[in-house]
Amino acid sequence: MAGIRIGQGFDVHRFAIGRKLILGGVEIPHDRGLDGHSDADVLLHAVTDAVLGAIGEGDIGRWFPDTDPQWKGADSLELLRTVWRHVRSQGWALANCDSIVLAERPKIAPHIAAIKERLCSVFEVEPACVGVKATTTERLGFVGREEGIAAMAVVLLEQAS
Ligand code: MG
Repeated sequence: MAGIRIGQGFDVHRFAIGRKLILGGVEIPHDRGLDGHSDADVLLHAVTDAVLGAIGEGDIGRWFPDTDPQWKGADSLELLRTVWRHVRSQGWALANCDSIVLAERPKIAPHIAAIKERLCSVFEVEPACVGVKATTTERLGFVGREEGIAAMAVVLLEQAS
């Protein structure tokens, strides 16, 4: 089974007033956004970390340090595209990617189709290869108190044919 690799990613960002809420490359209407050096797209950060983990090349913070002004306000979809180009050049294709957004509010479900479309376009795969799910945490913990949003992702790579 030399031709497959798995990776996982996890990320958390806190809410901040006066910021846009960007999840999976989609702007979601809400009364607050997520704080961060880039656009703080917590879902794409988890997905990007899963991709990088699968090829053993560190994490998003190593590729795009939050101390570097170059990445201030960065579009995380572009960061994922940069990482994905590198992964493709190493001879890998996406077998599938699955992900979960943990948020009390807003409701993510109405935006999942748009998020999936963004991910499929980056990875150049069919919708069946990309999972995007959302859950609340039943009002428990920092997610439940609406202090922030968390996201988890797993990615399976296979040798490109
Ligand atoms: Mg992050």
